[in-house]
Amino acid sequence: MPAPVDFLKYIDDNADRFIDRLGAAVAIPSVSGEAVHRPDVVAMSAWLDQQLQDLGVTTKIVDLGEQTDEKLHLPPAILGRIGDDPKKKTVLVYGHYDVQPAEESDGWSSDPFQLVIEDDGRLVGRGSTDDKGPIMGWLNVLEAHQALGRELPVNLRFCFEGMEESGSEGLDDLIKSEAAKGEDGWFDGVDCVCISDNYWLNTRTPCLTYGLRGLVYFSVNVTGPTHDLHSGMFGRMVHEPMTDLIALMGTLVAPDGTILISGIDELVPPLTPEESEIYENIDYSVQDVDEAAGAPIALSDDKVTLLMGRMRMPSLSLHGIEGAFSGSGSKTVIPASVTGKFSIRIVNPQTPELIELLVKAHLEKEFAKLQTKNVLTIKNIGDGMPWVTDPKDPNYEAASRATEAVYGRLPDLTREGGSIPVTLTFAESLGVNVLLLPMGRGDDGAHSTNEKLDRSNFIGGSKLLGTYLYELGPKE
Ligand SMILES: [Zn+2]
Repeated sequence: MPAPVDFLKYIDDNADRFIDRLGAAVAIPSVSGEAVHRPDVVAMSAWLDQQLQDLGVTTKIVDLGEQTDEKLHLPPAILGRIGDDPKKKTVLVYGHYDVQPAEESDGWSSDPFQLVIEDDGRLVGRGSTDDKGPIMGWLNVLEAHQALGRELPVNLRFCFEGMEESGSEGLDDLIKSEAAKGEDGWFDGVDCVCISDNYWLNTRTPCLTYGLRGLVYFSVNVTGPTHDLHSGMFGRMVHEPMTDLIALMGTLVAPDGTILISGIDELVPPLTPEESEIYENIDYSVQDVDEAAGAPIALSDDKVTLLMGRMRMPSLSLHGIEGAFSGSGSKTVIPASVTGKFSIRIVNPQTPELIELLVKAHLEKEFAKLQTKNVLTIKNIGDGMPWVTDPKDPNYEAASRATEAVYGRLPDLTREGGSIPVTLTFAESLGVNVLLLPMGRGDDGAHSTNEKLDRSNFIGGSKLLGTYLYELGPKE
């Protein structure tokens, strides 16, 4: 059903106050990656918990224990619930109240922890779009219903964490254990999940995101001499580790992006006409890539090829070489041991295990061809599974109708090139559909300087979240 007019009007009428609340949230520097800010992350959890309680949500602060490798206590997760009507659907909402580090000296044009309202409607401050804006969006929906004396159209469950920007430590275990408790847990009766923690593909068109790539990160070490050597004494006398490593890394990916490790590109399912249409319909252009990259370096002149490169194809990127000479000047060293770093973004049905097998087989074969006496070691130093869901699921259909109602146009259907690991945890442990429903635009600069959320996205996004709940409709 459409959202009631008085709900939409309440959001408009209270926009300035909502922006003040976002400002109060931004003012708490809840940087999870810096020990000095840990008390602020905890303060942010207390602030958010109080907001939720004031809006009628029953909450529980969950202690997640000690942080591995740090003498720090993890910030708590906040679980919440409002509504218990068996006739209504139950929606689980996820968000994170921690933020990336930010210092004015990084190049911010103002104090990152003071929300600045610019004349063009940009709300500038750390966390404005990632992810405090979307969390405030949910609070705005709750407040409107409380103030209007309206019942929510669904039962809501909340799961907010304070470690997302630092690997979500402790959260997977919490989600799995709550899911395992079934009707006795905090996620009882959940029909679907909504996560608002990504962005429109561009600055113009709302989108729903139904896929994420996974990742496997490799380190490849080549070692020879016991110590660094001098090229004037050993050049052309010994097998040099760096020469071997560069030769190896040169066998991984072609300049046009084709992955040269056999089996990896081949694992991608063929494009269906239906899927092709999704890419054709996305509002995007080659110019969008060039603008975002800051130079005209797009791999193709075809929009669909570019979108598929990011959304439905794996990609391999070379990141660096540890142990190599990297200073200025002209040091004539032969490094004794060098470690190349590269990663592969993967798509369904690829798994990290399968990719690791293919990569190791490839590197060992190529290393053998070098006929070197140096020693090769390959390690997987971090991975995550890809995720894709059905964009025709009723959860997506509801969000699509809500987008049309609020923004006057159907959303683009996108897949992200990066990952949001918690998506997979929710999908797997609850066995329900997960919707990624972004609030902000592609140029918000989530992890960058001068992070912003546009006022129109904050207010429109708050209406969108509420309208989506109405469009979900009653339980069948
Ligand atoms: Zn985020």
